Amino acid sequence: MKARAAHKARASRSGRVTGKGASGSRATSDAQILRDAVRYLMNTYRRPPIIFVRGRGCYVYDQQGRKYLDFLGGIAVNALGYAHPRMVRVMRREAGRAVHVSNLFHHRFQGPLARKLAGWSGLDRVFFTNSGTEAVEGALKLARVAARKKGATDKTRILAIEGSFHGRTFGALSITHPSKYREPFAPLVPGVEFVRLNDVADLEAKFDDSVCAIVLEAIQGEGGIFPLSGDFWASARELASQHGAALIADEIQCGLGRTGRPFGYQRHGAAPDIVVVAKALAGGLPLGAILAKESFAEAFGPGLHGSTFGGGPLACATALEFLNTVEEENLLENIRDRGAQLRAGLEHIAARFDFVNEIRSEGLMIGIDLAVEGREYVAAALRRGLIINCTNDHVIRLLPPFIVTERQVQDFLKIFGAVLQETKRPAAIAPQAAEPTVPRLRVAAR
Ligand code: PLP
Repeated sequence: MKARAAHKARASRSGRVTGKGASGSRATSDAQILRDAVRYLMNTYRRPPIIFVRGRGCYVYDQQGRKYLDFLGGIAVNALGYAHPRMVRVMRREAGRAVHVSNLFHHRFQGPLARKLAGWSGLDRVFFTNSGTEAVEGALKLARVAARKKGATDKTRILAIEGSFHGRTFGALSITHPSKYREPFAPLVPGVEFVRLNDVADLEAKFDDSVCAIVLEAIQGEGGIFPLSGDFWASARELASQHGAALIADEIQCGLGRTGRPFGYQRHGAAPDIVVVAKALAGGLPLGAILAKESFAEAFGPGLHGSTFGGGPLACATALEFLNTVEEENLLENIRDRGAQLRAGLEHIAARFDFVNEIRSEGLMIGIDLAVEGREYVAAALRRGLIINCTNDHVIRLLPPFIVTERQVQDFLKIFGAVLQETKRPAAIAPQAAEPTVPRLRVAAR
């Protein structure tokens, strides 16, 4: 009996699904879990045959107990790493109280969380969503209805930027630039036009009174860690004010501390009218938000917009704890310090490899731009117990947790250097893919 109990405990520690499953067996084997995934899930992600079962801090462990250093952080979501004690405590507490109460009633956390986000951004009001793309949808709707309420019926055009990524739902997809995401789903929302990144003349040519919104990522994330120039941001701000359009900052990837400032746009001074956030906000629970100046927020009245799940008590309590933790544990300072350490170490490594074009970074948002495809380096890193990612085919992207330590950065640099050294050099990227269409701005480490 004792041996059986010990085996059962081992099995559940290893992450096997225990209890009676569809097959009637007590535990689903790892091989079966992978077979089920391949057979029954829609084929939208290419995944290695690894099953992650638990994590702590910057490390995550697979079904065989193998430890990985996670420098991707669940794509910018796990900003406090795995199982942060403050997050776990609040999640446990609120799970035992009320996970959901519906947006027809108040609960204890939406108001205080909205106040905290207003404080971080300097904006006035907040609407909570479940995801980034849902926040983008709501922001576009807000910009359109605000224009309409001011009496402009034909003010519906939206400007977005080449290389941008804003999400997978129809509105957000319509302002996402790479055609591989958009074209298979056409026709999309009409009235969208793309402006070349950091090309002020192109922006000026496309901006007029028919524009109700321009949507900007202060640093393009999925696009390959490309920052907006100060000139471009200032021109967008000026043109938006001049034409009565909303300047919308998509801070879903670069916001909430990632760059070493509360929001990525804050390096430029002039504030946007609307900001969207998600990813890191609730420690891995799905939560996004639209933050807006009163002059735009006032366009939403009861019944005009809504969400069943957005902003429930469990997610909002956890988000409040996340923001308090970033403040109380001085994590913005750690982000800047570790970001500078990473940047310096990567520059040192890059000097040894002629296929590294450049390092672009701000805080803990880092792109290593290669002249070759990046996928094989990601796979090689994984084999060595390091999680990184490649975006835009040739940019290795790092989004480590805000709590990353000096020692962990050193470990990362050692592994990453070895990965570049030992991996067989992959195919070169075609020049037009590697070369941006306009001069890109290099961001200094901060
Ligand atoms: N906007 C940006 C800048 C993003 O990076 C993402 C996701 O990667 C999104 C929007 C979409 O967010 P979600 O996947 O939560 O819908």
